[in-house]
Amino acid sequence: MRIVVCGAGYAGVTLARSLERRLPEETELVVVDERPYHLIQHELHRVVRRPELAETISVPLDSLFERATLRETRVEAIDVDERIIRCADGELEYDYAAICLGAETAYYGLPGVEEHSIPLKRLEHAREIRERVLPLLDSGGRAVVGGAGLSGVQVAGELAALAREEAAPLDVTLLERFDNVAPNFPANFRTAVAEELEERGVDLRTETAVRRTTADAIETADGEAIPYGLFVWTGGIRGPDALGGRRSPVRSDLRLDSRTFAVGDAAKAVDRDGEAVPASAQAAIRGARVVADSLVALVESEGSGGFDPRPERFGFDSPGWLVSVGDGAVAQVGPSVLRGRAALALKASVGAGYLSSVGAVRNAVDLVDEELGIDRS
Ligand SMILES: Cc1cc2nc3c(=O)[nH]c(=O)nc-3n(C[C@H](O)[C@H](O)[C@H](O)COP(=O)(O)OP(=O)(O)OC[C@H]3O[C@@H](n4cnc5c(N)ncnc54)[C@H](O)[C@@H]3O)c2cc1C
Repeated sequence: MRIVVCGAGYAGVTLARSLERRLPEETELVVVDERPYHLIQHELHRVVRRPELAETISVPLDSLFERATLRETRVEAIDVDERIIRCADGELEYDYAAICLGAETAYYGLPGVEEHSIPLKRLEHAREIRERVLPLLDSGGRAVVGGAGLSGVQVAGELAALAREEAAPLDVTLLERFDNVAPNFPANFRTAVAEELEERGVDLRTETAVRRTTADAIETADGEAIPYGLFVWTGGIRGPDALGGRRSPVRSDLRLDSRTFAVGDAAKAVDRDGEAVPASAQAAIRGARVVADSLVALVESEGSGGFDPRPERFGFDSPGWLVSVGDGAVAQVGPSVLRGRAALALKASVGAGYLSSVGAVRNAVDLVDEELGIDRS
């Protein structure tokens, strides 16, 4: 029997590592990813200001797995009916699969936006943003971030912190079409994030939708033209191309069909309480644990002649949310909101805790040092 995990992000790594420990020896486990490392994407914005962090947040895949077979290739299509993964280097049949390919940036057909902006999903993007902002630190100008979700808030915070560190004449503007930043998150968290951004000089414009972009200016739905030197687009996500570009809806068992699961940003999940699950690293990790339980039960029942076990159902109950805003941070823990050093320490420890949990202890130490400004030399 063969189980294929497509994508080695938060969902795929958590799932495959759990399966490695629990599946019978004779079950083949294959992990497919187009790159040879696991990217700690929730720290990606940091690379814009601290390029040396790129190494800390890239964990080689071959250091993460013991028995899974790694296949470094691009997944191009998934034929759920035939149970075939079509990859750039050939086909892969499966008995069970989990699609953990994450999301792609969505541009919603807004004219000029894809052409003139830089997204933030990969290390190359963070490096390109840095390359484009460095000349602006000398010449002055405006960096605009479109979309104030978790990634937009954090990259705007980094750009503002970079400008402050360099005492540079750079304006940072954050555009959000809804009436608040981090619109999908609790109200006290949103308010604290907005205040942290404004304290750091970010020009926050809510209820401002991008309509189109030219080489020089971003035009809003109100007809305003905002000139820019750098435009970072974090305005939305869509599903992976291998699933037709949409985030397929899945119920709380996180299944596309009886043998194919979809976990993390790749799918749009509703949990067992009927709540929409937010696209986030913590939801990807928690969803993967549920799918691991389901897959282990399914494999164990296979050949036993009995009924299929009922798959586990995902209940997403977030313990809280954490974002960095430059050198500051906001942490929502239960009903309380923390800011300042306490929030920053919490953020560093959550990131490090995750890295340690996948066995990347050296990366964990480096991350804490970087986040908290500790110099051990
Ligand atoms: C700047 C930024 C800051 C963020 N901050 C936070 C935060 O503070 N808290 C939080 O909870 N979330 C945060 N997020 C969101 C979080 O990173 C995502 O929700 C999370 O990465 C989703 O995990 P995943 O496993 O579904 O996908 P991913 O982590 O995106 O992993 C997908 C994997 O699939 C691989 N892949 C993709 N397509 C293919 C293909 N066709 N073929 C082969 N391999 C492929 C990729 O290489 C990757 O390894 C942030 C995101 C960004 C960009």
